Amino acid sequence: MDEHNDHQSTPCIFCAIVQGAAPASRVYEDELVTAFMDIQPVNPGHVLVIPNNHAADLSELPGETGGRMFQVGQRIAAALRRSGLRCEGVNFFLADGEAAGQEVFHVHLHVLPRYTGDGFGFVFGPHYRNRPERSALDDAAARIRQGLEEAV
Ligand code: 5GP
Ligand code: ZN
Repeated sequence: MDEHNDHQSTPCIFCAIVQGAAPASRVYEDELVTAFMDIQPVNPGHVLVIPNNHAADLSELPGETGGRMFQVGQRIAAALRRSGLRCEGVNFFLADGEAAGQEVFHVHLHVLPRYTGDGFGFVFGPHYRNRPERSALDDAAARIRQGLEEAV
């Protein structure tokens, strides 16, 4: 297990949590993933689900492990709704890359309990309200289809 990543020379804090070498409030673990409480929760009950093996970002994450992260996220979302913690809804959030807001370069799925008036939300860019022409959507779709073919 590589405990370092390209963005910093210090050991990976999430690898240390998986290994039990750093403290964490654990929620779940199996052979592929571990879930624990975020140290700085957006709302009480904010959980992170991570792969046990270091993967800096989605490009390094095996598909099977990504699938397990989502499955465990689903189970945690259901558990949050039963937990007595305030949870009227749930957001999944995953930042892949610095420009997307990733700060810890060991992939993690945020499972965020939400409630009306919690103050959390996304900030949309200035162009968000302008709906693009269908041709622009078709062009983007074609580019992504091409990208899918190139990856096969
Ligand atoms: P990102 O911005 O990369 O999507 O999210 C990183 C998350 O990791 C943040 O929500 C931050 O609070 C959390 N985090 C950073 N360091 C630690 C830590 O040492 N322990 C725990 N439990 N969470 C951490
Ligand atoms: Zn790591």
